[in-house]
Amino acid sequence: MSEPLTELAKRRGFYFQSSGAYGGTAGFYTYGPQGAALKRNVIDAWRERFITQEGHMEIDAPTVMGEPVFEASGHLDTFDDMIIECPACERSFRADHLVEDETPIEDAEAMSFEAIEETIAENELSCPSCGESLADVAVSAFNLMFETNIGPGSSAPGYLRPETAQGIFVEFPQLKEYARNQLPFGVAQVGRAYRNEISPRRSIVRVREFTQAELELFIDPERDTPPIDRVQNVTVPLYSATAQEGDGDVVRMTIGEAVEDELVEEWIAYYLAIAAEWYESVGIDMERFRYRQHRPDELSHYASDTWDAEVSVDGNWIELTGFAYRGSYDLTKHDDHSNEEFTIFRQYDEPVTVEEPSVDPEMSVLGPEYGSEAGKIADELASLAESDPDAFDAESVTVTVGGESYTIDTDVTNFSRTATKNGEHITPHVVEPSFGVDRLLYTILAHNYREDEVEGERRRSLSLPSSIAPTTVGVFPLMTKDGLGDRARELARKLRVAGFTVTYDDSGQIGRRYRRQDEIGTPFCVTVDHESLEDDTVTVRERDTMAQERVPVDDLKDYLTDRT
Ligand code: ATP
Repeated sequence: MSEPLTELAKRRGFYFQSSGAYGGTAGFYTYGPQGAALKRNVIDAWRERFITQEGHMEIDAPTVMGEPVFEASGHLDTFDDMIIECPACERSFRADHLVEDETPIEDAEAMSFEAIEETIAENELSCPSCGESLADVAVSAFNLMFETNIGPGSSAPGYLRPETAQGIFVEFPQLKEYARNQLPFGVAQVGRAYRNEISPRRSIVRVREFTQAELELFIDPERDTPPIDRVQNVTVPLYSATAQEGDGDVVRMTIGEAVEDELVEEWIAYYLAIAAEWYESVGIDMERFRYRQHRPDELSHYASDTWDAEVSVDGNWIELTGFAYRGSYDLTKHDDHSNEEFTIFRQYDEPVTVEEPSVDPEMSVLGPEYGSEAGKIADELASLAESDPDAFDAESVTVTVGGESYTIDTDVTNFSRTATKNGEHITPHVVEPSFGVDRLLYTILAHNYREDEVEGERRRSLSLPSSIAPTTVGVFPLMTKDGLGDRARELARKLRVAGFTVTYDDSGQIGRRYRRQDEIGTPFCVTVDHESLEDDTVTVRERDTMAQERVPVDDLKDYLTDRT
């Protein structure tokens, strides 16, 4: 992010490093009034598109979860980054980032520890902090989860969630009830996630506490298909794994073509389409945007297809969102590790008959005849039906209980070779779009930052879409005297009541006030002047064109509604 924009972000209250009074804490940022409003608006827009319009559910799970959850999910064992510690100054660095920063290698995350060590040695890389050689220093694994203790003592370790997704997966047995046991259904969550990043950097792009907006869509892989027809004409820039491995480049094609060519898994394709349209609506510059497919060497073992939404800021590509087809991995893991079933009952269209030998002994006969042994005899008959169904072809069968043989008439066993089934339990597959909100805000600011010159002065502005701008209208009196201040205040109040986010400002020259609003991306400014007292009109000035128009106060609400 350019220097002037970073400065603007702090000065105008978008975000700044937190706990500055104590020297700041690396990797933690506070959103100021403008940033918090922008974030809220972006999250609201996300909810509207990915939850409300898609008919999904939203939950709000705790940010701390016990160790068994992360044992099952695999985070405890494998949620690691590569760390290298300088032997001289003892500062630690992310080894793959060091390699990416100092060599032409672009994606070192996919390299093995050994390959990273070799690359560091071959390129004679040194400590970015003190310059000591790192040539023979070992690279090791560093788990990114923040650990804590639940309750006093250390007997119940817990972790701050490194992603919001697990809060959804662990509740699947409950959530499927709310979905009336019908697939497909989607559950979303917007909330904080925590990763003890080795080297936080680029302000809010890589932080230790951030906000995710994740959607987990549970589908029946054999029955459910996405509504591709709704989005098939959406054009998206695709940078496929094959293109990355060869000399290929980004190709713009419609989602319909991408699915037909089997370039993208169809559920993922659906989300790539709706996300592309959504990104544009919140102000991402689609000329600096691409979907990049994970190459086989970086694909998680459980994912069959993953694409990242990436944006370019100052010439660097940043991952904004991961779209992953996770298969049945997550639910199977929790099913194996917990006491609950993470499956759903798939009803057949019609009952089917399957080979499944069974008995249903007549206890009214066995009971009186064999007394307390009758139950055990029935169990043995059931075992025999499974192990040797042909034995029931004879007139009678013999089973042994407590060393004693019992011969039973086959008729009494009600033996049957087949069973009628109405359905079966299946483990749903998961399709996951995982959005990082902070990186999105960073990109929205970077892609909408403008500098131009007005009357010999530099003007900085943010051309934010009005739907997400922290403030929609700035209301100014030309001067406070002659009743203009009171008129303007009253107008500001009325606009607030009408649902607009309004700032009232009467300090300094009008030009300065415009500049202040331009810098926070306010799309409209309304000025009350002497003419307003006479004819009840105001001047409305638009941010990007700076065009001014006289509008009757009575029409103002509609005028602004039409344009925001
Ligand atoms: P990276 O490779 O950049 O570390 P990731 O692949 O580990 O990211 P995911 O686990 O897919 O990220 O998380 C989903 C989204 O959460 C990312 O696309 C990103 O927007 C966001 N995210 C992940 N880690 C961070 C972080 N440390 N700071 C800010 N946002 C993050």
